[in-house]
Amino acid sequence: KHRIAEIASSIRVIPDFPKPGVMFQDITTLLLDPKAFGDAVELFVERYRDQRISVVAGVEARGFIFGPPIALAIGAKFVPLRKPKKLPGEVISEEYLLEYGADKIEMHVGAVQPTDRAIVIDDLIATGGTLRAAVKLLERVGAEVVECACVIELPELKGREKLGDIPLFVLVNGA
Ligand code: IMP
Repeated sequence: KHRIAEIASSIRVIPDFPKPGVMFQDITTLLLDPKAFGDAVELFVERYRDQRISVVAGVEARGFIFGPPIALAIGAKFVPLRKPKKLPGEVISEEYLLEYGADKIEMHVGAVQPTDRAIVIDDLIATGGTLRAAVKLLERVGAEVVECACVIELPELKGREKLGDIPLFVLVNGA
């Protein structure tokens, strides 16, 4: 079976989670299938291994699942981008708007240098607000963001457009 088809079929969709009307794309079922999980990681590694990437920045929480195996395989640092008040050291933070209210992500000062070439990884892009905030954090410290990478894109929400000039690489589309 083709790797992408196998990854797509291993992702479970749960209707009305976390609220009515949402079709939640659940990657925990992909993690139960070592072949599908391994292939997902491998597709990212194949794409980034010869691009002199020095930082893989993962968005809390599911970017912490896919980011580290990719970082180890390509010989890059892994940098966690976390929800507010989780990182113990000095941080810079970036706020972004949600449908109702606002949210924030933070990064440790000193984790990323102006000479770094970074990718940002998360499980899913919806409106693109989270990844855009992540890109801003890295660019504020002078790093070059080469690309954003997700397992799943919800194309109808046009999150890709919010990333401007930064390319987006995804494995599958969600509904
Ligand atoms: P965005 O900022 O609107 O692009 O939302 C993306 C963020 O919300 C990511 O961190 C995702 O993990 C999370 N998210 C939104 N919808 C889903 C979903 O259906 N499944 C898993 N995560 C989701």
